[in-house]
Amino acid sequence: VSTSERKPDWLKIKLNTNDQMKELKAIMRGSELHTVCEEAKCPNIYECWSNRTATFMILGSICTRACRFCAVNTGLPTELDREEPEKVAKATAQMGLKHVVVTSVARDDLQDGGAAIFAETIRAIRTRNPITGVEVLIPDFNGSEESLAVVLAAKPDILNHNIETVERLSDRVRARAKYQRSLTLLENAKKLREGQMTKSSIMLGLGETIEEIVQTMRDLRAVACNILTVGQYLQPTKKHLPVMKYYTPEEFREIKEIGLEMGYDHVESGPLVRSSYHAHEQVEKATMA
Ligand code: SF4
Ligand code: SF4
Repeated sequence: VSTSERKPDWLKIKLNTNDQMKELKAIMRGSELHTVCEEAKCPNIYECWSNRTATFMILGSICTRACRFCAVNTGLPTELDREEPEKVAKATAQMGLKHVVVTSVARDDLQDGGAAIFAETIRAIRTRNPITGVEVLIPDFNGSEESLAVVLAAKPDILNHNIETVERLSDRVRARAKYQRSLTLLENAKKLREGQMTKSSIMLGLGETIEEIVQTMRDLRAVACNILTVGQYLQPTKKHLPVMKYYTPEEFREIKEIGLEMGYDHVESGPLVRSSYHAHEQVEKATMA
């Protein structure tokens, strides 16, 4: 039985806007770029943008995969904008971002999965914004170590790859991605670049048990993942997987405690936590740890 019809109060958010937000949105309108913050109608946009954090989505808005939790359109992508790295770097400067997250759809149609554009984007951001923290949230590149190495050579501050869910549900929830392959990617990031800070994310509410959540957290720690984010899954449309459970803020707090005891440098766990939520603080804390 799904619980999608009854959204608890802690998931209801008040929309907030002010002149600063309007200005940032206007910069975005002029940039020909997409942010996850706006497109996914992320509830944290006011807080994140005020704190000068944003997540850009590069490589177009059509994904070659169709994960059953994700609202991004599926199809055969046609876009490949070679100017995109420069555009992201420019928008980062105009918006005065302190921390920028770069993510993309899965481009299984490209030989390198889009790795070269990720790397160029990291370099372009750094050139124009030397003190801005740069995080990449990458697809699995179909397990290609070569593509991963291309991204790591551009030295991102954080290499983020989401495991998304527990092992038992992985094949049902994610299209083509594999639980073990995601763990291997995170493990390889450490092997390919010494000291690389890594991060991953789990969505809750898809029918997993608490034991399975804890096991997934252990599996990620076993590949030395530094930062973990845990949030509530929300069904984007009726066609997507139903919500099986709404976890309470208290349950999220307990999961955070378990994560910290396991040795993560930073755990962000809460109903509205998204992969890039409080990203700026995550880097600071993990660097100090
Ligand atoms: Fe954007 Fe991520 Fe913040 Fe949401 S949590 S507003 S997607 S940076
Ligand atoms: Fe969405 Fe990423 Fe899955 Fe594509 S690969 S459908 S963008 S979660």
